[in-house]
Amino acid sequence: MGEKLTEKTFAQELNHIREDDNLRSMKTVSILTGIFALSFTIIFGVRKANGSDFPLFIYYFSSFLILTYLSFLMGLLYLLLSKKKHKSTLEIVIFLYLLASYFILIGISVFDSLQDGDFLAYTFGILAFSFLYRLTRIRLIITHSAGLVYFFILYYLMNGKIISPVSLLPLLAFFVFSLYISRIRELTQQKMLKMADELEKTHREIKEISLRDPLTGLYNRRYCDDFLSFQFEAYQRKGTPFCILLFDLDFFKVVNDSFGHLAGDDVLVAIAALTLASIRKTDLAVRYGGEEFLLILSDTHLSSAEIIAERLRTAVEVVTFKSIPDHVTISLGAAEIRKDEDTGSLIDRADKALYEAKRTGRNRTVISL
Ligand code: GH3
Ligand code: MG
Ligand code: MG
Repeated sequence: MGEKLTEKTFAQELNHIREDDNLRSMKTVSILTGIFALSFTIIFGVRKANGSDFPLFIYYFSSFLILTYLSFLMGLLYLLLSKKKHKSTLEIVIFLYLLASYFILIGISVFDSLQDGDFLAYTFGILAFSFLYRLTRIRLIITHSAGLVYFFILYYLMNGKIISPVSLLPLLAFFVFSLYISRIRELTQQKMLKMADELEKTHREIKEISLRDPLTGLYNRRYCDDFLSFQFEAYQRKGTPFCILLFDLDFFKVVNDSFGHLAGDDVLVAIAALTLASIRKTDLAVRYGGEEFLLILSDTHLSSAEIIAERLRTAVEVVTFKSIPDHVTISLGAAEIRKDEDTGSLIDRADKALYEAKRTGRNRTVISL
């Protein structure tokens, strides 16, 4: 028994943080883009209303108007879809929004290039796409290539001639730069996930160590308390019974005195191994004190607990050890949880039963009725 399976790993947590961060930054971007596009729509509208004969007015005006609509639609969808279960839909919506904005910006760049040969909007689109949307390099290449083809075609349609390759150089430079950015981001991401994995591993190891007794490898009292509370909850909720067995080595001081503390340690390790081998996976074996052990037997009534106790006692009796020539015996106290008590009182009863087993001759099991 050990880790709770429902616990999130650090890597999962990191991914969630990144997703949330992505979504939040996209909310800000769509709001800013909306305000920016609305401002330009108004500026062009006012210029036209004032009678200025602005060239390509309809193209600029409709581009910014569409961008305004899309941004506000995006904001609305963000509010509707930002709940956990819609997150993957929201991701797709955001991608489509960015793609549409990107192509609108490319369109605006073509109109600009007709006036002053300026590709500012396009380069801005390339950078925005690379920075904001965390695409893989392949998807980035596909998106930017599609953008370039669209630019070519639109330029040809508006101008009646093919754009000169030289004027495309700045775009290509930004394109390469954006790939470089995406590569760096990927590498950073990989490093972070690796670090999260290592952290996870260390965390598990430390947790495991903090719950185990270093000599025998059995669980310690800290984990015992958690496990007992867990069993107690199941008992209160569903009435699932459980028992505890408390056992203590008989005359263990004599073993230490005769053969030394290290030989005594070996005996404790061997008894722990034997104990572990004789319980089920759903039970828990704890080193409760120096030479005192506690077993928590889940979904078990007192009659079965007594059988398990006797089986363990008779198994210990005949075990031979490498470090000492003698046999050792154990005395056990058993108790089953009752309606009117808590775990403290349950242990108390097992302890009294163990004391009784010692008092009445040792190498025996006493059950608390
Ligand atoms: P009883 O049958 O009444 O339990 O007699 P006992 O001698 O086992 O009981 P007592 O409580 O007098 O002594 C327990 C001994 O267990 C004393 C201590 O030296 C030994 N002990 C406790 N922890 C360890 C340990 O980690 N390693 C070793 N080798 N001995 C330990
Ligand atoms: Mg003892
Ligand atoms: Mg003792």
